[in-house]
Amino acid sequence: MTQSLKAKEGKITQEIKTVAEAEQFDVQKLKELIADGKVVIPANPNHKNLKPCGIGKDLKIKINANIGTSPEDFEIEKELQKLEVCEKYGADAIMDLSIGGAPSSPCKGGDLDKFRQLILEKTSLPVGTVPIYQAFAESGGYIDFNIDTFLKVLQKHAEDGVDFVTIHSGITQASISLIEKRVTGVASRGGSFLVKWMKHHNQENPLLVHFDKILDVLLEYDVTISLGDGLRPGSLHDAGDEAQMAELKKLGELVLVSREKGVQAMVEGPGHVPFDQIPEQIRIAKEVCHGAPFYVLGPLVTDIAAGYDHIAGAIGGTLAAQCGADFLCYLTPAEHLRLPTLEDVREGIIASKIAAHAADIARKIPKVRERDDEMSRARKALDWSKQHSLCLDPEKFKKYRGEAKNKSDACSMCGDWCAMKDL
Ligand code: SF4
Repeated sequence: MTQSLKAKEGKITQEIKTVAEAEQFDVQKLKELIADGKVVIPANPNHKNLKPCGIGKDLKIKINANIGTSPEDFEIEKELQKLEVCEKYGADAIMDLSIGGAPSSPCKGGDLDKFRQLILEKTSLPVGTVPIYQAFAESGGYIDFNIDTFLKVLQKHAEDGVDFVTIHSGITQASISLIEKRVTGVASRGGSFLVKWMKHHNQENPLLVHFDKILDVLLEYDVTISLGDGLRPGSLHDAGDEAQMAELKKLGELVLVSREKGVQAMVEGPGHVPFDQIPEQIRIAKEVCHGAPFYVLGPLVTDIAAGYDHIAGAIGGTLAAQCGADFLCYLTPAEHLRLPTLEDVREGIIASKIAAHAADIARKIPKVRERDDEMSRARKALDWSKQHSLCLDPEKFKKYRGEAKNKSDACSMCGDWCAMKDL
């Protein structure tokens, strides 16, 4: 039975207790928010060492970090090192976005299973996947893909203990006819696979047609559905267009279908959005999706920050979170350029943590600003060891402080003119 069904029966599960304690949140209220679908706890009982984490209304903003292999870069060890970085720097969830090889590649799925199982074994963070990547790889490309292959892959992910899955059921034949006017067409990887299939076969989205079968699997293992935005804008030009809004409307309908069945549901959002449009986009998404937890992939507030997209995403993510988004997917400096390195992952997580924390301060989450005030007191006292212990990235603090020429009690910015010393 899922967390949602148990909460609807009035039960306070161990997972609800753990989240309430971690958030210092009223446990009865949390149970009600879960019963109403406003909060989810992605917690597959088969993920044995999981530390449950709550995502949604009135809770602290959570951040997700993506790891995973690509067909050009299939080094499992390197990705497992990234997992360690994610845990060390405070990601709240992990997504394994590994994709298999092209039809000619020997890697079509077997290694994907092994890697996913290793992640689940090693991490206590909730783990998400996008099963359509593996389903397309195992089909040898999009033409021979079918729903049976997808359900088989989904079943494997659920049995292994995956806690949440992205499912792009909101794309329809009607909505793909609306992408013609776009600059960047379909920016989502899973979305592009599906749109190619739908165009080639001239059929409706199989993940929508067979949505009930997908929910059956998710229900059995309490896997949270993350309703994917396959038509999210991949550029400022496309933000808020008809295709995005048509898909959002469908996702809102699917939230209700999922809740009715007892499957926990959240919704994925943009993408690339001009800064001034973010508040309205979040307001609409929350309304159309009946208050479901909203998981934003950025939003990036400019298209020209290549090499710095973690900053463009953190700016958008801060505002989105202040306006009601609940879950931020990190971006790394490598976004749009290549598979991230360990250092890219570290920087992406820190940028996202800053966004989430800044939004929590603005949302006046109780006690969340205490660490900032302590930091300010340590700054005033020129207490460098305390500052080191309080900052988000102690390693960078140590490196930069160590590089200062002047090793006096001030720093090398002003030296003897240090303003903190006197007044
Ligand atoms: S030297 Fe300047 S920058 Fe450094 S701590 Fe003092 S006031 Fe701040």
